[in-house]
Amino acid sequence: MEVYYNSTRSKGMQVKASEAILKGLSDDGGLFVPDKIPALDKTLRELSEMTYAETAYEVMKLYLTDFTEKELKDCIQKAYDDKFDTREIVPMAEAKGVHFLELFYGPTIAFKDMALSILPHLLTTSAKKNHVENEIVILTATSGDTGKAALAGFADVENTRIIVFYPKNGVSPIQERQMVTQKGKNTYVAGIHGNFDDAQTGVKKIFGDKELAAFMNGKGFQFSSANSINIGRLVPQIVYYVYAYAKLLKEGKIGEGERINVVVPTGNFGNILAAFYAKQMGLPLAKLICASNENKVLFDFFRTGTYDRNREFVLTTSPSMDILISSNLERLIYRLTGNCPEKNKELMDALSGSGSYRITEEMKAGLLDFYGNYADEEETADTIRDFYEEAGYVLDPHTAVAASVYQKYRKETKDETKTVIVSTASPYKFTRSVMDAIEPGHRELGDFELADALEALSGVKEPDAVSEIKEAPILHDRVCGKDEMKKVVLDILAID
Ligand SMILES: *Cc1c(COP(=O)(O)O)cnc(C)c1O
Repeated sequence: MEVYYNSTRSKGMQVKASEAILKGLSDDGGLFVPDKIPALDKTLRELSEMTYAETAYEVMKLYLTDFTEKELKDCIQKAYDDKFDTREIVPMAEAKGVHFLELFYGPTIAFKDMALSILPHLLTTSAKKNHVENEIVILTATSGDTGKAALAGFADVENTRIIVFYPKNGVSPIQERQMVTQKGKNTYVAGIHGNFDDAQTGVKKIFGDKELAAFMNGKGFQFSSANSINIGRLVPQIVYYVYAYAKLLKEGKIGEGERINVVVPTGNFGNILAAFYAKQMGLPLAKLICASNENKVLFDFFRTGTYDRNREFVLTTSPSMDILISSNLERLIYRLTGNCPEKNKELMDALSGSGSYRITEEMKAGLLDFYGNYADEEETADTIRDFYEEAGYVLDPHTAVAASVYQKYRKETKDETKTVIVSTASPYKFTRSVMDAIEPGHRELGDFELADALEALSGVKEPDAVSEIKEAPILHDRVCGKDEMKKVVLDILAID
């Protein structure tokens, strides 16, 4: 059954999967959504005998219906290989009576690798299918995590180049080192004198420059983005929910048809939306528990029906969740309007105008699958310490937000349903916050020394992703002013 993609903001923009992946965003500014959610066509018992790659094929083929079997299998094989530190790709752990789905064994030790390791292959395949002959130039502005994951994903992928801009003094030492040591003949990294917003604004300006686009086209290049709203990032994220359920079934941890809860540390709402799609496909999921940090826009939204970004932006120890506009929520809102682009657009226009919107009671009734709550900084640190002391299991701060919210949920609802907490980063990515929680008093140590201290304390081996970059040579040292980004791009492409 063919699946097409519609825009959330107007009718008549329907495209095929490969076109949606190439475009990223619809021309009307909307997000692409599948015109129907396909049902799983294998039983969970059958799926329980499959590897991660096999499961990925069974799920993704239902969405990317204009890809041939060979095209899709090639993409999957290139993505989920020995770039991952474990052959299982996504192992599961158990601590204090709850299951953890560990999505941090990819090249950057965080969950964005799950999608960014396959997106480049989906994108180049989509380009071929649509007879795009230009070389694709990926431009990304990063506050730290996405940049490295995109660099690692696109490194040495044929017919692509990737250019990442980051705020020179606005990322952690480990994050910067990860990026500037990136190998690959098509990878470029530039620090800018400015903050993340400057980098983001600069990239948007380049994307919007029609004259530049025409000039580039004449030279055989076109821009694309690896943005988290691309359906090429959303679809691969559905896979691990199916895989996790099937694995629990195989191991006898749950029975046939038994429903489970999932808890997702949330920022842009992409990961938890994938869980929602998995549920719509027939996966027996009960509550989708949306965990926020002190930037609790989503918690307030689930409670009141009003989405309001007009508030102070809080810098927390779970920076990848420091977000006030959760872009992927638009896909859920669209669904709650009964797939009505006009109503959805009205709400999104209100969001970009006044910074808030309110959904109707009827729409709010459609949110029953979700439960939202949040954890403050102290609760997050306490949770890291509790899990370490009581179970010897070390959580990163993002996962700790989820574990803390889950405790609140249990207390509030007395729900005993078996539960999977989605673990989105390795504790080694945030050694300072983790060590501060477990054993404070390491002020004098640098981030890399803290990794050694964490290894000694936890007995969990330091991932190669951290040890490798300690000694790795610096390969990128470009720095530019925030108004020079376009010039840097032209320099890199040698077409100025
Ligand atoms: C991006 C990220 C999140 C948030 O995921 P969304 O899909 O944006 O909700 C949570 N944890 C970590 C470590 C991340 O990198």
